[in-house]
Amino acid sequence: MPRTSFKVDLSRPPEAAEIKTHNRWHPDIPMVEMMKPGDEFRVECFDWTGGQIENDDSANDVRDVDLTKVHYLSGPFGVEGAEPGDLLVVDLLDLGYLPASPWGFTGIFARENGGGFLVDHYPHARKACWDFHGIYTTSRNVPGVRWAGIVHPGLIGCLPSQELLDRCNKREAELIATNPDRVPPLATAPNAETALMGQMTGRKSQAAGKEAWRTVPPREHGGNCDIKNLSRGSRVYFPVYVRGAGLSMGDIHWSQGDGEITFCGAIEMAGYVDIGVDLIKGGITKYGITNPVFQPSPLEPKFSEYLVFEGISVDEKTGKQYYLDAHIAYRRACLNAIEYLKKFGYTGEQAYVILGTAPVEGRVSGIVDIPNACCTVAIPTAIFDFDIRPNSGGPKPGISAGVDLAATS
Ligand code: ZN
Repeated sequence: MPRTSFKVDLSRPPEAAEIKTHNRWHPDIPMVEMMKPGDEFRVECFDWTGGQIENDDSANDVRDVDLTKVHYLSGPFGVEGAEPGDLLVVDLLDLGYLPASPWGFTGIFARENGGGFLVDHYPHARKACWDFHGIYTTSRNVPGVRWAGIVHPGLIGCLPSQELLDRCNKREAELIATNPDRVPPLATAPNAETALMGQMTGRKSQAAGKEAWRTVPPREHGGNCDIKNLSRGSRVYFPVYVRGAGLSMGDIHWSQGDGEITFCGAIEMAGYVDIGVDLIKGGITKYGITNPVFQPSPLEPKFSEYLVFEGISVDEKTGKQYYLDAHIAYRRACLNAIEYLKKFGYTGEQAYVILGTAPVEGRVSGIVDIPNACCTVAIPTAIFDFDIRPNSGGPKPGISAGVDLAATS
């Protein structure tokens, strides 16, 4: 086991920790430690909410979570010799949950606080809790399913340059200005009030907090990409934008379906990541790289059979035809899968959570056949402990009624 470079104490709020996490991106956040190319080290991470969600049967905490405080990130780690223009090579050597916390959660976020991909259909806060059994997971809120984890950091990236910071702040502010009162908002503007800037304190921290990026979207530096395939054994090539690179991570997921569609749609947990670092000098220009590039893990849960649902770019409410719109097509594919799973006894919310958490494959299958984009959602049939394939006998409910996600009171 490599040396633990960043430790978290789950019994105290992250704000009270000796080595502070950061929940914003800014070029001046100080490195917590300098590494050398070739070094390997362990990083512990809070769950993305910093412990705001409890392992209980109420979704009040999901409804009330303070989203201006997320995500709680561990780092940034500097790498000696890294300069803007280089590629930082990051090996995700191993990942797992923290021994003190062998559970995870999934939230459907309410329209008023975050929302999700299907917010018009599922606008209320709900929660599922998951127990880990070795490599497997089950949930008291979602019966009839069990699968092996595919642990990955939802969020990992390097510090942005001031130029990149300014450029993204400008383009996101322009988007927000097109509909500033939208619920949920079009993007998250900087918010100094709840900014945690790691080891940066005082007046400098307050000033930087006013322009620091929120951690919600993925950007050119990586960030909150929510890619389930950044799992144990994968290798990521990050563009370096500041001296030392400044690698940070968090938002550890036990498992996730492509799209993380309920918003807090993965199985969220506190966990550790074992990291190896190296450099490719001048790699950005050598390889023409703008956003991170990665090689997936050689080890992944093995599924040989899927049931695949198609969706096309026609709005489900109005019947309006859209032009090659992959967002609508993916939504329709997900809604089609949910309707199908409801025939086996699941509530819509349970089916929604299965799509967000299980190792479901989402694809843009066709993007040129005017006017319809075709997106697909592939569900591995082996995650269910009953047969979900269509047959002449019709669907047989595979689960007992009365079990559901936790609701609000
Ligand atoms: Zn997450």
